[in-house]
Amino acid sequence: MPIIFGWGKKKIEELGEINARKCGRCGNEKPWRIIKVTIWFTLFFIPVFPYKTHYLLSCPICGDALEMEKQAYKDMVSDFESKSQK
Ligand SMILES: [Zn+2]
Repeated sequence: MPIIFGWGKKKIEELGEINARKCGRCGNEKPWRIIKVTIWFTLFFIPVFPYKTHYLLSCPICGDALEMEKQAYKDMVSDFESKSQK
C-alpha cells in the first residue's frame, strides 16, 4: 500500500476586520479582513501537523491579499480583541 501524503489541506480562519483602507487593486475603501491560512501536512488525507501559516489582509471586494509578518498579525489581533471587549 503506497503512503499518500501531501500539503493540500488548507484551513482558513477569518478573524475580523481592520479599519477601512484603500485597495491598490480595485480602489475601494473598505474594512479589510484579517485571515489566517494554515497549510497542513497530510498523511492518507488526514491532517497531521500544520506545515506553514500565512497571515493575510484581504480586500473584501476583489480578494486582493497582503501577507503580514506574524508579529504584525498578532498585534492586530490583540488590538482587535481589546476593542471588541469594550
Ligand atoms: Zn480590492
